[in-house]
Amino acid sequence: MEIEQIKVGRMVVFSYLVSCPETKEALIIDPAGNEEQLAEKVKQKGLKLKYIVNTHGHADHTGGNAKMKTLTGAQIVMHTADNEFFNNPQSHGMARQMGLEPTPPADITVEDGDEIVIGKVSLKVIHTPGHRAGGICLLAEGNLFSGDTLFVGGIGRTDIPGASHEQFMTALRGKLMTLPDETIVWPGHDYGPVPSSTIELEKKLNPWLRR
Ligand SMILES: [Zn+2]
Ligand SMILES: [Zn+2]
Repeated sequence: MEIEQIKVGRMVVFSYLVSCPETKEALIIDPAGNEEQLAEKVKQKGLKLKYIVNTHGHADHTGGNAKMKTLTGAQIVMHTADNEFFNNPQSHGMARQMGLEPTPPADITVEDGDEIVIGKVSLKVIHTPGHRAGGICLLAEGNLFSGDTLFVGGIGRTDIPGASHEQFMTALRGKLMTLPDETIVWPGHDYGPVPSSTIELEKKLNPWLRR
C-alpha cells in the first residue's frame, strides 16, 4: 500500500492518496481543496482513482467532492448517517455560506465493519460517531486514517451541533485505543506539532486520552 499525505484547502485538511502499487487502483480521502492538483497527481502516478472517501460529511472535508468527481469519475463513499444528514437544502446552504461546494449524494454508503477495496488493498471502516454521527476511520495494513476523530495530540470538537462527547469518547477508547500500539495515525487536519503519530504516542501524550 502506498500513502501520500497532501495538505489541501484553507482549513489545513490532510487529504490522502492511497494506492495499490500492484494494480494501480487508488482512492482519495477528503480531497477538500486543490482538486486540480490532486487530479493531476493521480494522472502523473498512472493511478486509477476508484473512490473519493469522506471521513465525515462536514463541508471542510467534502467541499472538493463535486469537482474531484467531475475531474476523475471516482465514486463518492460516505457513512450512511452523514450522507443523509448533509444532502438537503439546509446543509447545502451552510456549505455555500462557508464558501464551499456542497457534496453530491454518495454513490456508495458504508457502515461499521465494511471493507473498501482498491486492488489488493482492503481498508476497513471503523464507525466512530461523536464529532459527527457518520464519522468513520479507515484501517489498512497498520495505518489508521482518523479524520476529525483523532488528531496528533488532540481530538475532534464535540461542542458543535449534532455532536456527542460521551459517544465520542466511547468510540475513541473502545475502537481506536484498542488498536496495536504501533498503528500509524494519519489525522484529518494538520493541527499537531508533527503530521502523523501512533496509537502508542497518543495514549501517552494526548491530553484527552492519557489515563
Ligand atoms: Zn469535522
Ligand atoms: Zn475537519
